Amino acid sequence: MESPDTLAAIRTDGDLGTDSGAAQEVLRRVFGYDSFRGDQREIVEQVVGGGDALVLMPTGGGKSLCYQVPALVRPGVGVVVSPLIALMQDQVDALSALGVRAGFLNSTQFPDERRTVEAQFVSGELDLLYLAPERLRLESTADLLDRGKVALFAIDEAHCVSQWGHDFRPDYLSLSMLHERWPRVPRIALTATATDKTRDEIIQRLDLGSAKRFVASFDRPNIQYRIEPKNRPDRQLLDFISTEHAGDAGIVYCLSRNSVEKTAAFLTENGVTAVPYHAGLDARTRATNQSRFLREDGLVVVATIAFGMGIDKPDVRFVAHLDLPKSVEGYYQETGRAGRDGLPSTAWMVYGLNDVVQQRKMIDSSDGDAAHRRQLQLHLDAMLALCETVECRRTQLLGYFGQPGAPCGNCDTCLTPPESWDGTVPAQKVLSTVLRLKRERGQSFGAGHIVDILIGKKNPKVLQHDHHELKVFGVGTDLRDTEWRGVVRQLLAQSLLAVHGDYGVLTLTEASDGVLFEGRKVMMRREPERAAPSRAARTTKSAKSAKAQVDLAPADVGLFEKLREWRGATAKEQGVPAYVVFHDATLREIAGRKPVSLSELGAVSGVGENKLAKYGEQVLEALTAE
Ligand code: ADP
Ligand code: ZN
Repeated sequence: MESPDTLAAIRTDGDLGTDSGAAQEVLRRVFGYDSFRGDQREIVEQVVGGGDALVLMPTGGGKSLCYQVPALVRPGVGVVVSPLIALMQDQVDALSALGVRAGFLNSTQFPDERRTVEAQFVSGELDLLYLAPERLRLESTADLLDRGKVALFAIDEAHCVSQWGHDFRPDYLSLSMLHERWPRVPRIALTATATDKTRDEIIQRLDLGSAKRFVASFDRPNIQYRIEPKNRPDRQLLDFISTEHAGDAGIVYCLSRNSVEKTAAFLTENGVTAVPYHAGLDARTRATNQSRFLREDGLVVVATIAFGMGIDKPDVRFVAHLDLPKSVEGYYQETGRAGRDGLPSTAWMVYGLNDVVQQRKMIDSSDGDAAHRRQLQLHLDAMLALCETVECRRTQLLGYFGQPGAPCGNCDTCLTPPESWDGTVPAQKVLSTVLRLKRERGQSFGAGHIVDILIGKKNPKVLQHDHHELKVFGVGTDLRDTEWRGVVRQLLAQSLLAVHGDYGVLTLTEASDGVLFEGRKVMMRREPERAAPSRAARTTKSAKSAKAQVDLAPADVGLFEKLREWRGATAKEQGVPAYVVFHDATLREIAGRKPVSLSELGAVSGVGENKLAKYGEQVLEALTAE
């Protein structure tokens, strides 16, 4: 373990008691940052003063400092409850690099490792202890906590306590005991996902009624949101990556393991280094692929949603969805993994008729009672509304989380506004085809066949059922096949059509009558020919240096690359992810400022005392080396 020189020095230099100057001192000397961001200062003061806090901040907002700084300022050990077992080692490594004494307890450890950490905790040799929630259920853990001094409890990913949310973990329910057993220890609960409903559930289940609440803006202005019509998803993805994000790290989400495997193979064949990640792979392969993603520059992970929670890699440049997420919460959390470092990033998704059919079918056939299905339905409806909107995507997203916003200028609908058009007549054509089949023939069919009837395609299936004799046969030659699919998709999205069973047959809903018989108007979205590429993409030819070019003078790009090389070698030697050595943002600032002394280097944001002592000379050398 790293020697805690810096902290020891701060501890002896100044009385750290509950002085708020101490927090500032820790921020500057340990983390190398000049000032707190947003609500951080107030949150830190609340917890340092012994009060409880509930913190809602988007990914990348800076939640970790909110409990790490108080843990260092208050006497005792900060205990962090986190479900992210696979990441605990990396978190501890990152803290060690700062000179913070951290350890973890979870099921992946050997008993003797665990005993060492426990002994360190009891004798106060730790600043932070990470704990898996299931360990808190053990009486032995509670006894352990009684034997040491706890500075605070941080409950990370607090939305896991919510049964309404999408990440429910039963072990989180037992966290209510923290307050009962250690009523004097301050608690801070943090999450990046919280609609009002989730928030209320967190407060109620964790007994945080009297905690001070901090709600940051959920906007992630550096992320560009785009949703495009799906036709050949693999090709579209490859196009997107190679024109806008070649050489960048990214995450691609697919619904099934099979499509994860296929997509990863397809990307690799086409020169994009990509690895798969899903629950069907053995634990070793998963761990290796995750670790490669964290450690290597520019690797793409193709994954089911099993991947990514809590991954704090700051330089993920894009998140792509090849299938529709089940909820806006899920979508926002997944896309939020892009651009934690604040640099331009893209959330890109393709979406089509089959997504709606598939998701509606899945809900239709899901276990659980009607109330549960209704809940899934509401989640999906909100997600579909986001896909079909002609308004700013960001405004819609923020609105979903109860926050107002103005058109952002950095989403596809702002950059290339889609038209909305009156789709009432085409809607009536689709609906009456479904109705006639049912009334005249007692039949139901899927979307593909309905479209074939509308455009008058005499294919074998049509002929077999004599559907060319229907009155509606060929009434839709004014639109192309793909346009009809768009119409059906939007009818499904607006619940003017329903889909059932293994074959995905279409049926009318209660609302269909309004369109067929009561003159209800149906507005639809017309896709722009092709969504505009991001601004970053248009200015970036050599994608390898995309990050450097964001705010570096061209002359400094070479210097930045040189620093990155040094960082890569250093990280490899120490077996830690590159960002544990220094973040991209820090390297960029160094390249821009070109410090010539240790004290100049120490003034760069992200260079704390421990890193300055450890790497300072090497960095100055790398800067002057030819
Ligand atoms: P979250 O946990 O909310 O997703 P992190 O705690 O990982 O966010 O912080 C996101 C990034 O912002 C990290 O790179 C972190 O070092 C940086 N950061 C956080 N607070 C500050 C600050 N006050 N000044 C500068 N950088 C900060
Ligand atoms: Zn917008």
